[in-house]
Amino acid sequence: MRVCMPTTLSDACSMLADAGTAGRVMAGGTDLLVDWPQRAHEHDDTIWIDLSRVTPLRRITCADHVLRLGALTTYWDVVQSEQAAEAFPLLKQAARVVGSLQIQTRGTWAGNIMNGSPAADGVLALMAYDTTIELRSTAGVRRVSLDTFYTGYRSTVARADEILESIVLRRHRYRIQYFEKIGTRQAQAITKVGLALTQDSADHSWRVVMNSMAPTVTRCPALEGVLSAQQPMAGPDAWLPIIDADVSPIDDLRSTSRYRRVVAARLLHSALADRCDWIGQ
Ligand SMILES: Cc1cc2nc3c(=O)[nH]c(=O)nc-3n(C[C@H](O)[C@H](O)[C@H](O)COP(=O)(O)OP(=O)(O)OC[C@H]3O[C@@H](n4cnc5c(N)ncnc54)[C@H](O)[C@@H]3O)c2cc1C
Repeated sequence: MRVCMPTTLSDACSMLADAGTAGRVMAGGTDLLVDWPQRAHEHDDTIWIDLSRVTPLRRITCADHVLRLGALTTYWDVVQSEQAAEAFPLLKQAARVVGSLQIQTRGTWAGNIMNGSPAADGVLALMAYDTTIELRSTAGVRRVSLDTFYTGYRSTVARADEILESIVLRRHRYRIQYFEKIGTRQAQAITKVGLALTQDSADHSWRVVMNSMAPTVTRCPALEGVLSAQQPMAGPDAWLPIIDADVSPIDDLRSTSRYRRVVAARLLHSALADRCDWIGQ
């Protein structure tokens, strides 16, 4: 195993390109090091590109209605940024339910995206804000909308030679912003059911995003369509067929498919019945 510690992003990209299939980017290490004791032997030939000394990547900037999080921005950085929390309150809500304080101060938003877990809480909030990510390689930068980034369970459109450089959010006015994570307890719990909702004040468009309900964190076009059409809902169970059109939760050690569907329906109904008079009680 080798560890490279570049001090510029351009060096990091060159090192990753030179490493070929052995290259692996490291940020906070909170995902990478979890299963280290079981898999150490698999990393004999890995070339780690540790970004921790590329300090400009830690920056958060907020200008001209655009918030930009660098690849090393942690959850705690966002909690502490008044501008970020004020412009995009769901980010702060998500950050405060990720792991524990230790994870929040070390884990990065970029790592949460690139790790590709279907339970990723940071991705849940980011996707509800139409986030775009910028992927850099020695060939240049390309921009990808986060809602088209995932192609399946832990697979993405990112190439092995690309580093996520920035996470970009464009500020809108929102009529509704909602985030809820259901887990076994308040801290250190992987999400069983997660829901984020936004409604744009100007064009009234909806974003409905769920995590732990499908192989990837996912936008829900059928639910967005029902909300745009202002279709009344008789009660929580009326949401179930629409949820089934968007997601396919599984039974696993944390929960059952049935629990996830029923809880998602209740979350949707209670969140929206309070905020939209056409939903019905
Ligand atoms: C105890 C514990 C509790 C946790 N609780 C939660 C939780 O409640 N909710 C939740 O969503 N997550 C949780 N996590 C997961 C984790 O903290 C997050 O996913 C974290 O955001 C990952 O960021 P990192 O900087 O540590 O990434 P790393 O571990 O360094 O990397 C993660 C992956 O992303 C890649 N990567 C990282 N940065 C880049 C980049 N800039 N460009 C390209 N690839 C990159 C790495 O190669 C790796 O594949 C928990 C983890 C632990 C250990």
